[in-house]
Amino acid sequence: MDNTTLLQITKDYGSPVYVYDAEKIVSQYKRLTKAFKNVKLLKLNYAVKALSNISVLKLFNSLGAGLDTVSIQEVQLGLKAGFKPDNIIFTPNGVSLEEIENVAKLGVQINIDNLSILEQFGTKHPNIPVCIRINPHVMAGGNTNISVGHIDSKFGISIHQIPLLLRIVENTQMNINGIHMHTGSDILDIDVFLYASEILFETAKNFPNLDFIDFGSGFKVPYKVGDIETNVEELGKKLSKRFNEFCKDYGKELTLAFEPGKFLVSEAGVFLAKVNVVKQTTSTVFAQVDSGFNHLIRPMLYGSQHEIVNISNPKGRERFYSVVGYICETDTFANNRRINEINEGDILCFKNAGAYCFTMASNYNSRYRPSEVLLYKGKSHLIRKRETFDDIVQNQIEIAI
Ligand SMILES: *Cc1c(COP(=O)(O)O)cnc(C)c1O
Repeated sequence: MDNTTLLQITKDYGSPVYVYDAEKIVSQYKRLTKAFKNVKLLKLNYAVKALSNISVLKLFNSLGAGLDTVSIQEVQLGLKAGFKPDNIIFTPNGVSLEEIENVAKLGVQINIDNLSILEQFGTKHPNIPVCIRINPHVMAGGNTNISVGHIDSKFGISIHQIPLLLRIVENTQMNINGIHMHTGSDILDIDVFLYASEILFETAKNFPNLDFIDFGSGFKVPYKVGDIETNVEELGKKLSKRFNEFCKDYGKELTLAFEPGKFLVSEAGVFLAKVNVVKQTTSTVFAQVDSGFNHLIRPMLYGSQHEIVNISNPKGRERFYSVVGYICETDTFANNRRINEINEGDILCFKNAGAYCFTMASNYNSRYRPSEVLLYKGKSHLIRKRETFDDIVQNQIEIAI
């Protein structure tokens, strides 16, 4: 994704726009597959919520991936993209029994993460195989918004509740075919992950009919210079060995499943926005782009750092800027960042914008959500049109006042 291509995309499709590089998605998928080449049955279920455009889902389908979904709508998107139902896993949190039943009816693997629904579902549908989500209470990373395995987390069934879980399974005679964990989005330390995996193996021994063990995700990618990324090659080596040993003890070749989102699509995406105003105040030079946290909320929501490059003036003298948006609310993308000299009309490129960027966009300030473009086989393809005023008003009902 060179600057010329990206600038041309803003000319062809306008700004702001998200651009995804299919080649990078494919290479990340292959990298993870290769890291686990010693496991006989490996399944990578792409986490739809990271980036849910149907064309991106079709790309994953062509690679042989499965899907990890968290709502029935994501399941429907997957089916529309051509995935077979048995190639989709449904891993919701706090959804209704009815939604889980409706997804199960479609033939999708369901994953239950609380004892109340487990008991109700098992009582009504003892023959439908169910995966259970365990919370091993392992802290991954430091940010409690994205660490979902700790003791106060709302996710999963606590390992301390295994005795009650086993009683429910016995009483309902339901069939547990998989166990699952997802510890969060920041595995910095492989040993922490392996430690959580041991807890999962220990739990797995209680269930004689397993087909798979799902280790969730949490693969970290670098967002800024110096960031640590998950060493998937080392993880692959260590976890594969341990997994194969477990299967031998268990007496059956199980599938090792993962459900990465960020790892597969984050670095493949950029967000392009145009500078409307360069504003000098008494202390700061602001570059204000034609966007805001309505289009890219991660910096304001998580304090995430997205590298920003001025692709219109990549050789310009470096100066310090605060990059902000145009909505009427504080929407800082970057504070006091060193960027090549910015002029009004320049295009800024936000890196790592493939995961949790477009999918978290909103219409706040009644702005349109951006368009999306996929670079695929050397060509740019529009895969989502920019919204129009009709999209803003179509579900509103005017009453007589
Ligand atoms: C969000 C989510 C994922 C993907 O997490 P990443 O950090 O994007 O890899 C995987 N599994 C579940 C259950 C999730 O909710």
